[in-house]
Amino acid sequence: MLVVMQSDATQAQIDAVCDAIREMGFQPAPMPGAQRTAVGLIGNDGQVDGSHISGMAGVGQVIYVSKPYKQVSREWRPENTVVEIAPGVRFGGTEVPVIAGPCSVEGEPQILAVARAVRAAGASALRGGAFKPRSSPYSFQGMGLEGLKLLAKAREETGLAIVTEAMDEEGANLVAEYADCIQLGARNMQNFSLLKVLGRLRKPVLLKRGMSATIQELLLAAEYVLAAGNPHVILCERGVRGFDTATRNLFDLSAIPLVHKLSHLPIVADPSHGVGVREHVPPMARAAIAAGADGLIIEVHPTPDKAVSDGAQTLYTEQFGRLMGEVRTIAEAIGRTITPAPAHQTVGAG
Ligand code: PEP
Ligand code: MN
Repeated sequence: MLVVMQSDATQAQIDAVCDAIREMGFQPAPMPGAQRTAVGLIGNDGQVDGSHISGMAGVGQVIYVSKPYKQVSREWRPENTVVEIAPGVRFGGTEVPVIAGPCSVEGEPQILAVARAVRAAGASALRGGAFKPRSSPYSFQGMGLEGLKLLAKAREETGLAIVTEAMDEEGANLVAEYADCIQLGARNMQNFSLLKVLGRLRKPVLLKRGMSATIQELLLAAEYVLAAGNPHVILCERGVRGFDTATRNLFDLSAIPLVHKLSHLPIVADPSHGVGVREHVPPMARAAIAAGADGLIIEVHPTPDKAVSDGAQTLYTEQFGRLMGEVRTIAEAIGRTITPAPAHQTVGAG
């Protein structure tokens, strides 16, 4: 249930509604908005009777949230949520940040070279896995803590925000220390205990859609993070399993407008994992921006053929530079702009 206050409601009237919700045995969640405040009721999974609240002073409307997810729904919050992962890097507003970098952090020269190149091309955040979820236990598992330190070094030099994956609670605590945004990978989208940990950490989360997850399951996964106290969630469409082996996954462009209708959370597109074939990544990235994606996450490497993971879907740095020019034009055509690269750069750094 959501209590929408009148635009001229006083603080005392809002407080009275919060008290009434507490008396019903629930937790009130006041959400001040641009026009008026709404007060959510947390802790109920079924129908509650809020008729006495509709008659209270200052109350405009009582809405019963009909979806199984509540706090992530548009009914709960009509305005877009803007998630800022670092100063100026905001997802969900008119600016569209681009996160770019290798699939995996492989070493200092590699990550610094990619960071410099993607920043020069206009990215505002750097990706790169230090903890890698690999299908085979014999594949490269990531550099771990050492990789996180290298990402922090790349941020120090370039000013790029850092987005990197955590696979368990211990990793999440470490990533929260070193990065600006914790990526929860497709394979962990329904790791409910990890979702609760990310809720408690209060660090921005990039939540990737599971390989066979419905949009409703994605939104319910996000609900876990919000319900545990962290509103800073960015959703990510990264393709789902299809029947056709011509592409790695089936990149679901329709998830973008669909999520915008159902939820106030931002959604970014990952065409690299979505398609899995380098030459098809730029067209799908362009299409995602046209469809209204709130950001892109793209795999880029100076020598993708030598990459330790996901080389086949990774763009060359020059290809990424061309793509940035194209997505700038497309974003402008729909009234948005690509977030500029950070101005900051350590003196003397290349
Ligand atoms: C990745 O970003 O490199 C990754 C492993 O992504 P996903 O979880 O979407 O497969
Ligand atoms: Mn990858």
